[in-house]
Amino acid sequence: MTALRSINQDDLRNHNLSVIIDTILRSPTSLSRADLAKATGLTKATMSLLANILLNNHVVREGEPDISQTTHGRPSTPLSVAHGRWAGLGLQINTDGFGCMALDLDGRVIDAKWIHNDMRRTNPKDIFDELDDLSRPIEKALNHKHYRLVGSGLALPGLVTDDNTLLMARNLGWERLDLTQFSVVRRLTPRAGNEARLAALSQIPGQATQRLTSSHECTLAPTDSFIYLSTDIGIGGAVVRRGSVETGDHGFAGELGHVSVDLNGPTCRCGRRGCLETYAGRRALVEAACIASGDDAVKSESMDELYKRWQQGDANAVDAIDRGLDAMISVIVTVINIVDVDTVILGGFWSNFGSELSDRLEQRLNELSLGRDAVNIRVLMPLVADYPALRGAAQVGLRRFIDNPLDFLSA
Ligand SMILES: [Zn+2]
Repeated sequence: MTALRSINQDDLRNHNLSVIIDTILRSPTSLSRADLAKATGLTKATMSLLANILLNNHVVREGEPDISQTTHGRPSTPLSVAHGRWAGLGLQINTDGFGCMALDLDGRVIDAKWIHNDMRRTNPKDIFDELDDLSRPIEKALNHKHYRLVGSGLALPGLVTDDNTLLMARNLGWERLDLTQFSVVRRLTPRAGNEARLAALSQIPGQATQRLTSSHECTLAPTDSFIYLSTDIGIGGAVVRRGSVETGDHGFAGELGHVSVDLNGPTCRCGRRGCLETYAGRRALVEAACIASGDDAVKSESMDELYKRWQQGDANAVDAIDRGLDAMISVIVTVINIVDVDTVILGGFWSNFGSELSDRLEQRLNELSLGRDAVNIRVLMPLVADYPALRGAAQVGLRRFIDNPLDFLSA
């Protein structure tokens, strides 16, 4: 009986610490112990005890006492996330290169490296070995700065199963890879996931790091629902429901890029016809605008040229973008009608076309959705636009700590 009771108390303490850390991360302002007790439903005595554990372990720090707010005659002291101790590592292999990012619990990027690389016809082992070489100096530097690396995530542009198999990444030409064969995966044991789902994670305020404060962010709350589109050569997506990414029963949910808008349309790399990707993907747009074809169409210079020609009003470029936008609208409206979400975040290169295009998208979505009389749909630019999947992967690493703080803290 005694053993059982002590296990339960540890579980309870672990749970309470996790809830407190989550509450601090999601808050746009610093919270006092009294604020935290109120927000979490814990007693002030328990709160004080647990806050001390977090202070002693450099998870939180105390700010300047606020003399305008007092508790029993004492000024209240705000608590906020400390920096310099807890880090998550993100790893990513994408269609344009690969890289790593170390992320502090307070949201700052400690270190990041990205290698731009032509990923077509690459050998997976060579790339994973290079990723291993890239991550080692970052880990060493973390160690040197007295950070504790609590976990890592790995973002891949394809379908990843729960048992660490990359089923397929068509735009890399990789199939059925047991990820545990690679030394970097065995060494760091990252949780692998689809890049679009991880990019969506990075848009959720306070998901694993201190909530960022920006004017845009005010429009998205930690528990909001939204559809995230990740646009590149391929198009990925995710549905976020009340602050959680919908993964589906097998981790494959959200493949918006392979919703067909025309069963007689162009053949997609997935084998079907008329997928969104064949109209609105980077390669498809460059080819449709007659800028380049084949391997040249996926070069970043081709995309720069498309953007330039579109701005100049070149007829082919304008047509290609209009057709791509129509396909996007068709798919997003369909998804909105299915999942009933009112916010769309446009990630990836489509966000570079600016507010004129996103306003058009927003207007059309509002004209076409079934719930238009009752629901106002909004299209937002991504809060994290630079390497969002890499950041999301690092957040997955940090969640290992946030979900089970007692695995890491000395109480
Ligand atoms: Zn497809």
